[in-house]
Amino acid sequence: MKVCKFGGSSLANAAQLNKVMDIVLADPARRIVVVSAPGKRHSQDTKVTDLLIALAETAIKGENTDRQFGAVVERYAEMAQELKLGDEIVRTIEMDLMDRLAKVASLEPAEFMDLMKASGEDNNAKLVAVAFAARGRKARYASPKDTGMVLTGPFGDATLDPASYATLSRAFSNFDGIVIYPGFFGYTKDGKVATFPRGGSDITGSILAAAVCADVYENFTDVDSVYPVDPRLVPEVSEGISTMTYREMRELAYAGFGVFADEAVIPAVRARIPINIRNTNHPSEPGTMIQQSRRVVPGTIVGIAAADNFCNIVVEKYLMNREVGFGRRLLHVLEDEGISYEHMPSGVDSQCIVVKGQCLPKSKELKVIQAIKRELNPDYVAVERDITILMIVGEGMCYTPGMLAKACLALASVGISVSMVNQGSSEVSFMIAIRQQDRETAVRALYKAFFGKA
Ligand code: ASP
Repeated sequence: MKVCKFGGSSLANAAQLNKVMDIVLADPARRIVVVSAPGKRHSQDTKVTDLLIALAETAIKGENTDRQFGAVVERYAEMAQELKLGDEIVRTIEMDLMDRLAKVASLEPAEFMDLMKASGEDNNAKLVAVAFAARGRKARYASPKDTGMVLTGPFGDATLDPASYATLSRAFSNFDGIVIYPGFFGYTKDGKVATFPRGGSDITGSILAAAVCADVYENFTDVDSVYPVDPRLVPEVSEGISTMTYREMRELAYAGFGVFADEAVIPAVRARIPINIRNTNHPSEPGTMIQQSRRVVPGTIVGIAAADNFCNIVVEKYLMNREVGFGRRLLHVLEDEGISYEHMPSGVDSQCIVVKGQCLPKSKELKVIQAIKRELNPDYVAVERDITILMIVGEGMCYTPGMLAKACLALASVGISVSMVNQGSSEVSFMIAIRQQDRETAVRALYKAFFGKA
């Protein structure tokens, strides 16, 4: 059995929905279909989820919601009309939205907001089920409430209650035909609607794939595959990644590969379900397969990612290496300030701590520096900003001499100076820090060195 998830751009209008149905019906193994809310029809358009957020905000303020309400209903009505689905489904959606809106006075704003946001996927799933019926194919809408998708944690940032896996698995143990399942939300133990973070339909798909032990989790989006470099930096990149491992995906996603959030697919990764990223607009393309292991050609890499806006806390002290507890006290300072760190390259008498820029805003900088001076009495401490982290990723680098040398040579050949290097013992990636202004040149040089192009 395959679980397939279709993102908002795949469901933005009737033409896209027709493609989705063609894809689902082309393979009888595609039995669980997770849907997002309708996304943008063109670059200037607004996603239904964003329309719903604006609608909920207006309602919370007690202002007139007629126009925004109409804009949401119109998105579904347009699809229903083009697909000749009849008025009933549009009326059902309208009534549902009205019922939700009427709860504004009785719910806390955060709970009300989630109730409204969740309607985007919920109503879309109902509409998609009707669209299948109109094609003469039976597809059943399934509700996260009835199937036991129980969430905990704050509204808008909820997580799955792990006990749900057993309930979900039972709910899907015996079903025929195709199930259309709304992504992005579930219910708390006391029956309140709660949503995952934005983009959360990926999480729903991943959870269901794990719960039913799917053969594959197909994630349909609007790109043919994951590319080895960001096509915005290297537009000539043509060949996508055919297979990568979970570890490679994690390392690339960490440094900004935006196909989906790595955290979203944790349930599928833990259950070792292969993930297939595919394009709704080009369904014959095999896409990118992400799995536990793959055949690796030694000396090759899978991708190069670059993430901006890092900063580096540099601490120097003569004989630091002999001072027991130096590292612990340094990290304690960060812990006290609630700052998590990313990398910790070190020298004999120096220690660098790389953190994300947003974790160490300018407003906190002085306080952190003073605390380090007080606790560690260093010879020098400073914060360097505007650093880009390059991640060179590939299982094939393990035990292959010269990979780092190749990267450094490529950077040297375009006059880029490396400010830090870090490689973990897993040898699935290494990190190189450079100045932010060199980012594009650096990525292009690395792409040329490792992929022989650009
Ligand atoms: N519709 C939600 C969002 O825009 C969830 C999703 O599409 O995955 O964030």
